[in-house]
Amino acid sequence: MVFRLDLGTVIARFAVRRVTVFRVPAQMVYSLAVQLLAGTETLATIATHWLGRFQHALGTRDAFTLENLFHRDCHWRDVLALTWHIQTLSGAHAIAGDLIEASGRVRPMGFRIDPDRTAPRHVTRAGTKCIEAIFRFETAEGHGSGVLRLIDDGEDTHRAWTLLTALDELKGHEERVGHLRPSGQSYSREFGGPNWSDLRKSAAQYAERDPAVLVVGGGQAGLSLAARLGQLQVDTLIVDRWPRIGDNWRRRYAALTLHNQVHVNHLPYMPFPPNWPVYMPKDKLANWFEAYVEAMELNYWTGTEFEGGSYNAEAERWTVTLRRPDGSEREMHPRHVVLATGVSGIPHIPELPTLGNFGGSVLHSSQYEDGETMKVKSAIVVGTGNSAHDIAQDLYAAGAKVTLVQRSPTLIVNCDPSAQLVYGLYSEGPPLEDCDLITASIPLALARKTHVLATEHAKNLDKPLLDRLQRKGFRLSDGDDGTGWQFLYLTRGGGYYFNVGCSDLVAEGKIGLAQFADIEAFVAEGARLRSGETLRADLVVLATGWKGQEELVRKLFGQEVASRVGPIWGFGDGQELRNMFTRTAQPGLWFIAGSFAQSRIYSKYLALQIKACEAGLLQ
Ligand SMILES: Cc1cc2nc3c(=O)[nH]c(=O)nc-3n(C[C@H](O)[C@H](O)[C@H](O)COP(=O)(O)OP(=O)(O)OC[C@H]3O[C@@H](n4cnc5c(N)ncnc54)[C@H](O)[C@@H]3O)c2cc1C
Repeated sequence: MVFRLDLGTVIARFAVRRVTVFRVPAQMVYSLAVQLLAGTETLATIATHWLGRFQHALGTRDAFTLENLFHRDCHWRDVLALTWHIQTLSGAHAIAGDLIEASGRVRPMGFRIDPDRTAPRHVTRAGTKCIEAIFRFETAEGHGSGVLRLIDDGEDTHRAWTLLTALDELKGHEERVGHLRPSGQSYSREFGGPNWSDLRKSAAQYAERDPAVLVVGGGQAGLSLAARLGQLQVDTLIVDRWPRIGDNWRRRYAALTLHNQVHVNHLPYMPFPPNWPVYMPKDKLANWFEAYVEAMELNYWTGTEFEGGSYNAEAERWTVTLRRPDGSEREMHPRHVVLATGVSGIPHIPELPTLGNFGGSVLHSSQYEDGETMKVKSAIVVGTGNSAHDIAQDLYAAGAKVTLVQRSPTLIVNCDPSAQLVYGLYSEGPPLEDCDLITASIPLALARKTHVLATEHAKNLDKPLLDRLQRKGFRLSDGDDGTGWQFLYLTRGGGYYFNVGCSDLVAEGKIGLAQFADIEAFVAEGARLRSGETLRADLVVLATGWKGQEELVRKLFGQEVASRVGPIWGFGDGQELRNMFTRTAQPGLWFIAGSFAQSRIYSKYLALQIKACEAGLLQ
């Protein structure tokens, strides 16, 4: 084993040296080396060779060799490490050029397989077989990790299909975890002075200071980010309008359990206990949020509305207004404001001209509490996304006669197992940290292909249900270009339903179904259909979704800031979510949102950027 590795290294070094002098022969030498080793070399050796050649080409600014190291279909995703951006570049020529430019600036070095992480292995990603290797490296500014995917191009040469370079930590600003954890002695030496509890209370009061970072929203996105910033010693305050930590989950419908399995949903640093249920009930999660805030020593103001603010470019600070639970106002001047207010910002209420005729109550889904207390006899729920189905099922369970009104084709996927297929990686065996890095390493093109395959698989698994729904007149979708529910979420924040029973009720005719186009008009007693029939109701719920976060930015900071920042979430023509987890065109304004996994993964990178700004490394 040792011999093989050494032989491989020797040959690779020889190949690398040849590369700089005679370009084409070097490739031949490398092929020969690979042939010599074929059948005996380890995957680690193949990846190590590639990394050696890569590093040498970077160091010598050899664009030709660099380009040759990549497959013709290739992608490089950099998450801050080399460019200070979260960006994906495709095509060997463009990648080689940008890599050389970036490496001149940050001098990456020390590329090697990380012995402490999942060893290089054969995997199939997006339907393609490849070698996947996790490596580490450093730059002038920090330490990084990456994922390399190599495919055999048929000439006994392994070329890079995808490459991730991601920043892990900033030199001199490492997280205070593990062997760097605080000693705790400072609390015990001063017998007369304030103890840990006194210091915590006064830190969270912000009586005579302002935080460097104000995080608006204390859901999983806000908590994850604040926890990360805390380890980087950035003074951070979370504000949330709800009276109790966890209310963003607690106040959702009674039967809610999370849609993803527990092992995908951990918050940073503090995984859920191993005896927790696979699908977590919302109140258990809400209470965990409280425990998390306590354990991670997060500063969190409940019952506090963020009312907006303005940015002083000269002072590089915000002036923001917070409405406290007693109605008083507090002005603050943080350097950074992070909106962690969820993908769904302001309710979208469509213009339904005849709805004014309706004699019963009309609610947006965000105003709906629960069917049991509402004592509704019959209801119309407009919409067929997650909220619409959940509300319809809740009303049905409370004894109401319910009709779902479908406006557009909707993707239906059984929660278990079909909706879990896209999280297969997290069940492959590597530890959470490696799964997160691998997730971050998947460029958009591969993600789309992966999701097309998963959607096809899910459709086959769910066929009996989908056929029954279609027979009832339900119009099905499989997402944009067949990319499924995850891309509907990433581009529109909705348009799908994870079936936890409501689709079965629709298929069985226990919950009614009407098409919006079949409604002639709303009338006092309900909705009159073109067939002449009237759907009677005493409640209409508009489960019609949410406006984009741009609207929220406009409301909180004004049109100028909203125009400067532009669209938020979705990909547009690019390969990254717009304005998420990264610097925006408005200095000091940041966004974080998404699933537990997204919050866990990207809170790290967002925190590193804010820390870099605070340390003067980044503008
Ligand atoms: C039934 C169901 C199951 C789900 N299962 C999963 C799952 O298994 N895994 C998963 O990853 N996701 C799941 N989700 C999606 C998940 O709910 C959302 O992804 C999540 O709530 C988003 O978290 P967030 O922190 O971005 O925003 P939110 O949880 O929406 O939190 C935003 C917070 O911001 C606060 N806020 C907003 N504006 C202001 C303001 N101006 N001032 C003060 N506070 C403000 C709000 O009060 C709120 O508490 C599920 C959703 C539902 C409905």
